[in-house]
Amino acid sequence: MIDKRTRIKIAIQKSGRLTDHSLDLLERCGLKYTRGRDQLIGYGENMPVDLLFVRDDDIPGLVRDDVCDLGIAGLNVIEEKRLEFVTEGISDPYIEVCRLDYGHCRLAFGYPETGSIQAIRSLEGSTIATSYPFILRDFLKQQNIAADVIEFSGAVEIAPSLGRADVICDLVSTGTTMAANKIREGETILESECILLKTPVAISPEKTEWVDRLLQRIEGVMQVRESKYIMMHAPKVALPDITALLPGAESPTVLPLEGFADKVAIHVVCRENIFWETLEALKDVGASSILVLPVEKMLA
Ligand code: ATP
Ligand code: ZN
Repeated sequence: MIDKRTRIKIAIQKSGRLTDHSLDLLERCGLKYTRGRDQLIGYGENMPVDLLFVRDDDIPGLVRDDVCDLGIAGLNVIEEKRLEFVTEGISDPYIEVCRLDYGHCRLAFGYPETGSIQAIRSLEGSTIATSYPFILRDFLKQQNIAADVIEFSGAVEIAPSLGRADVICDLVSTGTTMAANKIREGETILESECILLKTPVAISPEKTEWVDRLLQRIEGVMQVRESKYIMMHAPKVALPDITALLPGAESPTVLPLEGFADKVAIHVVCRENIFWETLEALKDVGASSILVLPVEKMLA
């Protein structure tokens, strides 16, 4: 039994596209866990955090019902469930804490190559198959389009060849599934990525400290993904040019160089990736011995 008062429960996808990324994120936050025999729960060993492995579609509901304090799911699923909750009169089912920059995909229209409908403006009176009826109906309403929406729980791309729909509205990342079914990808109605969700219910004081700590660590993990630590030698006078060249740099640490009165060592953290072009430009303004190192952890 998990003590709900003191241990944080996080819902993540049991097995699918988001699972490895979500576990990797939590492991980078320092979480070590053992998985129960039924594989449904991961028991945190070094933090009061337990993982609940479930279908991604169930995650928003578990957070909304306060069964879990936090959850990680795609915006597509989160937004679909949110609109469904709204129809039940529940307006703010959960708090969207932050975007996690993985699980990128888009919900887009797909037009059969041989069909007469090839754009949103021709959708009036058509039949559209989708796994996201709430998002699609909401979009059609905003655009003032009257169309029939039929729900497919999977394999939406075969609906046109079965004669069930004129058009589809489905998730795409590379576009190969649509192409293989002779469907042309059209307009995007939702750009999606993974989101961290939090329960709308106040979290007990026992848990708040660890929730805050975890959120801060997640922020740190997100920041270091792109960050680099750069070291170089340079003439003192080149300092303004060098700072101007470094993207997202904080103010640099400048150290004297033994035996060189006019040269310094510069150390700086950049919050963006550093490309070869930047290194060449640094060299052009006088920098030498340039080293670029990955940042493993960061705490603001
Ligand atoms: P579950 O058994 O958990 O319900 P699923 O079949 O719904 O699994 P996956 O195919 O693993 O789910 O996709 C999970 C999430 O991954 C999607 O909801 C979406 O947010 C994201 N995703 C990223 N790229 C794609 C893609 N090309 N197709 C579908 N989902 C994608
Ligand atoms: Zn699913």
